[in-house]
Amino acid sequence: MTATAVEDWLLDSALAPAADDDVLAPLYGAASRNELVMPFCAACALPLELDQEVCDSCGTAERAWSTVAPRGTVHAATLMHRREPGLVRGVMPYPIVDVELTSGHRMVMTTVQPAGTAPPIGAAVHIGFRHLGDVAIPAIDILEDQ
Ligand SMILES: [Zn+2]
Repeated sequence: MTATAVEDWLLDSALAPAADDDVLAPLYGAASRNELVMPFCAACALPLELDQEVCDSCGTAERAWSTVAPRGTVHAATLMHRREPGLVRGVMPYPIVDVELTSGHRMVMTTVQPAGTAPPIGAAVHIGFRHLGDVAIPAIDILEDQ
């Protein structure tokens, strides 16, 4: 069986993150199985930022990754105008969206498919994955209602 690389609509695969990244390996590992995991404080279960090592609430420096619902709402959104031939494949403006997940986490992402408009604030979204090189990256795949 021959694996066919799926090209991302936005970025060249040379920009793929390292799937064995020290901080985000759990995220990328789960994403490769179409599963969204996010970090929580191991002591008090507060949702943590992706790169946050110490809990703001209890000061614990231990993280626990758990599967979360791939759903959220648009907290902020903008339309990015960027032309960088060779690295950015897209030639049209594309949305960058700050999503508040139902788990309480916030994550900035774009869309699985090209989209020429930014979604409205408060729109409910479903999170899927883009594939950049061998790495799956969370991205909005469905606007659930508008
Ligand atoms: Zn804590």
